[in-house]
Amino acid sequence: MIGILRARLRLGHQTIAFPGGAARLPARFRGRPALAPDRCAAGCAACADVCPTGAVLGTGAGGLAIDAGACVFCGRCQEACPARAIVFTRDHRLAMRAREELVVRGDAPTLARALDGRMRRLFGRSLKLRQVSAGGCGGCEAELNAAGNVQFDLGRFGIQFVASPRHADGLVVTGPVGANMRDALRRTWEATPAPRLLVAVGACAISGGVFAGSPVCGDGLDGAIDGVPVDLYVPGCPPHPVTLIDGLLRLLGRLEGDRPESLAGAP
Ligand code: SF4
Repeated sequence: MIGILRARLRLGHQTIAFPGGAARLPARFRGRPALAPDRCAAGCAACADVCPTGAVLGTGAGGLAIDAGACVFCGRCQEACPARAIVFTRDHRLAMRAREELVVRGDAPTLARALDGRMRRLFGRSLKLRQVSAGGCGGCEAELNAAGNVQFDLGRFGIQFVASPRHADGLVVTGPVGANMRDALRRTWEATPAPRLLVAVGACAISGGVFAGSPVCGDGLDGAIDGVPVDLYVPGCPPHPVTLIDGLLRLLGRLEGDRPESLAGAP
């Protein structure tokens, strides 16, 4: 017993300081791309040519744009660009409220807007979510699991995953919403009491990701449940737990525009 207590004391406090302090992102983390369209050489489309998901929406001085909702953050476009017009920063703040806000251009980043006052009062201090894997590979699901571990401790914000949609305030959906999951997802949504939230996590749930265009795999959550709108999009392949936590806290109005320590040194 004494040995266990000593080991526990040696471990110390493991939970990250985020959002008050550093997010402790891994060295190879890729966050929001910073674009410099004025560096694009005329007629060059090297970035678009190597993109596996069609996430480079336009090239050139007037049109360079990346859809963070389709991007799998592979870094190929950055490597392919001789002018360094695309550089992936360590900015984890990728979650947005509207699909079109996920398109990154050369301008200043926007941040996810909060819910209206009534929804913030309802969910701001206690939010229970049911996760639905709608054809995901397991990557996003693993990161959602990680969000609840001792390092990220999503529960300290009053946000927890629950076992039944009947106990939930909303659904968190991963995967491209394949044909075999559509009915199950719709019935899970109907079993969730209103008012309720719908959150799309990962490139597949947002746009179909690498599966986009497949009639079997699906093109993501938009329109998958009889026109129900998505309340929060969390990009990534998979998203880092800090990106998820940041998005949920902004949605609940508990985190507003700031420059956390984790962004120090980012372009
Ligand atoms: S990082 Fe994103 S935009 Fe760039 S090539 Fe990969 S998927 Fe396409």
